[in-house]
Amino acid sequence: MRTLILSDVHANLTALQTVLEDAAPFDRVWCLGDIVGYGPDPNECIETIKELPGIRCVRGNHDAAILGEIDVAAFNDEARASLAWLDTQLLPENRAWLNERPERLIMEDFTLAHGSPRSPVWEYIMDIAIARENMSHFDTLYCLIGHTHIPSIFTMDAAAPGATRLYLMPPGEPFALNRKSIINPGSVGQPRDHNPLSSYLIHDDGADLPFEYHRVAYDVEQVQLRILEAGLPQRHAARLRDGW
Ligand code: ZN
Repeated sequence: MRTLILSDVHANLTALQTVLEDAAPFDRVWCLGDIVGYGPDPNECIETIKELPGIRCVRGNHDAAILGEIDVAAFNDEARASLAWLDTQLLPENRAWLNERPERLIMEDFTLAHGSPRSPVWEYIMDIAIARENMSHFDTLYCLIGHTHIPSIFTMDAAAPGATRLYLMPPGEPFALNRKSIINPGSVGQPRDHNPLSSYLIHDDGADLPFEYHRVAYDVEQVQLRILEAGLPQRHAARLRDGW
């Protein structure tokens, strides 16, 4: 079974389509939230994702905000401007689909959450200290998260029990991971690790080295044009070029 694991599409249909083509073939898809926000294609992204094989998806903070569950005052000015735009664009059936997404899912060895297992919609796992605190908040071997848009792995360190260590994943090289770990596949639609390439993970449960991390280039300029045409903040377009 090949599972495509993706996160933070952020209404970037060009990046999403590029990832789906690059990742094929796959048997099912797990999405870690934030399908909407920032980008110009919210309805198209939801409509594409909800038709994917075996789709399971949790809600992110942008998804929760457009559903009225998070006070928009918690967002910065530009994120707030794009949420106001999104509110005028999002079709009722797509809003309803987002509203059915849970905050957490457990699939075999994996717990899925957007931000963290402890606080699924909002907490950012940016450093080892926060990762360590979160290790006791899930019972599966792995926890998959998004939210920071930075691909990373925090894993229990056998040499120093109780500690965790950060591994950045080398793209293109399959790997195994046998310790309790928090894994972030990075972002499809708005990478923030100073690398503009879309980021995703494959898990193949029949392989000796089951994890594969990938980056793929998409047509950034096309998306930048649509962001500007929609009247969304210019900064949302600018950041895609360099991945920040
Ligand atoms: Zn996000």
